[in-house]
Amino acid sequence: MAEFTLELNDDQKQVKEWLHGFAADVIRPAAAEWDEREETPWPVIQEAAKVGIYSLDFYAQQFFDPTGLGIPMAMEELFWGDAGIALSIVGTGLAAVGVLANGTEEQIGTWIPQMYGDADDVKVAAFCSSEPDAGSDVASMRTRAVYDEAKDEWVLNGTKTWATNGGIANVHVVVAVVDPDIGSKGHASFIVPPDTPGLSQGQKFKKHGIRASHTAEVVLEDVRVPGHCLLGGKEKLDERLARARERAKAGGERVKNAAMATFEASRPAVGAMAVGTARAAYEVALDYAKTRSQFGRPIIDNQGIAFQLADMRTRIDAARLLVWRASWMATTGKPFTSAEGSMSKLYASEAARDVTAQAIQILGGNGFTREYPVERMHRDAAIYTIFEGTSEIQRLVIARTLSGMPIR
Ligand SMILES: Cc1cc2nc3c(=O)[nH]c(=O)nc-3n(C[C@H](O)[C@H](O)[C@H](O)COP(=O)(O)OP(=O)(O)OC[C@H]3O[C@@H](n4cnc5c(N)ncnc54)[C@H](O)[C@@H]3O)c2cc1C
Repeated sequence: MAEFTLELNDDQKQVKEWLHGFAADVIRPAAAEWDEREETPWPVIQEAAKVGIYSLDFYAQQFFDPTGLGIPMAMEELFWGDAGIALSIVGTGLAAVGVLANGTEEQIGTWIPQMYGDADDVKVAAFCSSEPDAGSDVASMRTRAVYDEAKDEWVLNGTKTWATNGGIANVHVVVAVVDPDIGSKGHASFIVPPDTPGLSQGQKFKKHGIRASHTAEVVLEDVRVPGHCLLGGKEKLDERLARARERAKAGGERVKNAAMATFEASRPAVGAMAVGTARAAYEVALDYAKTRSQFGRPIIDNQGIAFQLADMRTRIDAARLLVWRASWMATTGKPFTSAEGSMSKLYASEAARDVTAQAIQILGGNGFTREYPVERMHRDAAIYTIFEGTSEIQRLVIARTLSGMPIR
């Protein structure tokens, strides 16, 4: 087991430098254009594929880094470049992790390569869980998957919403209800292969931030997928459902929810994205404060400005430490006894929201215009307190974990 250290090893330093170079030279110069276009930046994803950043291999390497710091370091650097473009690059990873976490080896080998395509023909993937009436309240999900035994096919019906890459993905991973009587324990995940009839894109959303990332509804009308597209397989699902039904009969004994444990482990990655955006805005603000003069001296000469920058940097560093701790815990199998994953996401996302707002203030009029990047960073930062569980849901999870009480 890797000892915890805050010092990156030589390999990590090299990867960090390489990612930083890509973020600075390729992502950042393209950021304003794709934010305005509100379209998926295919050429940038292709560049990332060419150099090996947009690939399963790269994510697997970071994911299996024994120190746990591979993913947070990668996320921070890419999102430092630009959040919308970076999400277009890493969005496929959300679907890939869904398959890695629940799929059989055969499913992993078959579907993950199709999620990425290759450098000459890049593809993206989507993870579709949220629905119009089931956001935070995942148990209210309505999309149904019914097994057609005669044909060994699953039939999916429902509407998913806010899906990153929804409708433009080559492979969609769809969470659906297989047993409505046992709440979220009756959910299962399915692969919808490329060009499956019945799956279509609904509304594409125009957004406040991360506008280079495609977000849309996904409509499923009698979508038939082969039995082998059920992640984990039917035998495992039947066993899991039988256990959950038994527990429900026995009075709903509280069981450790596997999905919750997965979220605890994935939330630090979102925290790291937030750290990247916050750091980017802080750097612009620090530079501006040192070079902008008013009343005959640089504005950083005023404690009112300098102290803000001191607080901004302190919050960013504190956020990174929480993210790294949680990532290390996830990788080394430490139990999240205090919901440390949620803590890291909560703190980092709120720090990013506040730090980017302070950056606008420090840049004054320029901060408010699109001539400078901080207004975009502030719009982008707003997503971190919403997706992968809102701040309120993080507080609920932390409070419930700490108290053991069913706080509402
Ligand atoms: C850009 C973007 C990309 C996304 N990508 C994906 C994706 O790829 N796949 C996917 O499945 N989903 C995705 N989502 C959906 C996202 O995960 C949900 O928006 C999020 O979970 C919140 O759900 P909701 O929007 O329905 O908010 P709601 O659950 O309706 O919440 C509304 C407000 O009420 C608060 N609230 C709700 N319940 C409680 C409570 N019990 N106590 C206190 N406050 C509460 C919330 O915190 C929030 O402030 C994405 C969303 C966006 C905006």
